[in-house]
Amino acid sequence: MPGIRRSIYKSPAQLRLMREPGLATADSLDAVRAAVRPGVTTLELDAIAERAIVARGGRPNFALEPGYRHTICASVNDEVVHGVPGDRTLRAGDILSVDSGAILDGWNGDAAFTVVLEDPSRPDLVAERRALNEVTEQALWHGIAALATASHLNEVGEAVEAYILSQGDYGILTDYVGHGIGRRMHEPPPVYNYSVRQKGPEVRPGLVVAIEPMVVAGAPDTYVRDDGWTVATEDGSSAAHWEHSVAVHEDGVWVLTAHDGGAQGLRRFGIAPAPPA
Ligand code: MG
Repeated sequence: MPGIRRSIYKSPAQLRLMREPGLATADSLDAVRAAVRPGVTTLELDAIAERAIVARGGRPNFALEPGYRHTICASVNDEVVHGVPGDRTLRAGDILSVDSGAILDGWNGDAAFTVVLEDPSRPDLVAERRALNEVTEQALWHGIAALATASHLNEVGEAVEAYILSQGDYGILTDYVGHGIGRRMHEPPPVYNYSVRQKGPEVRPGLVVAIEPMVVAGAPDTYVRDDGWTVATEDGSSAAHWEHSVAVHEDGVWVLTAHDGGAQGLRRFGIAPAPPA
């Protein structure tokens, strides 16, 4: 909204309001995950996600982006993010990233996961894609864990990058980054997946960010397809994308887009998330 500069820090009451859109987003991704199999189209997955969001009283917020009509982004193989659902049929061995979001009572959720479809005829390809997917998911949890103890937001990107580079020769996208989230799906501040010189804003109660590492098996250079949306790797290498919307509050962090608040993902870091009071 022009002329209005909101603080990036939300009140405790606003954090509570962000729980329902987070859970509607989580529901939509759970429903899609359960439906992923060879032969399903990405448009069918889109409808499944929409139903899950509406069933929880929300609305898909991606459809509020100018020019975008769908509930999810479905990005397959060399597509990293912003893949447009359509009549493409998923096949054995595909790596699929699904990004979804819900708006409910004026507040937003945003999250993504990646899955690799089984293909016994191509074990090497599946193993390579599974490794990429695992690194990307764990990079997200390293970023969330860093947020739990960070003094400034740049510590998240440092943790994400350090973990990814420790796991092999992966590429981290720099053309696209995470973001603040609240009344709008995309708000300041940017959340980098790599080290930056600026320390970024203070991490303190009220900060809500979507952390979303985008990792590729080759070089991190991308282009946008002719549909005007789909971001794909220039070298054709496989891509993975994981995302959660995470709130910082007086008692720690809470993953708004996970049904358990992130308890399972953060356990290995000795972090027990608590819901915002
Ligand atoms: Mg996002």
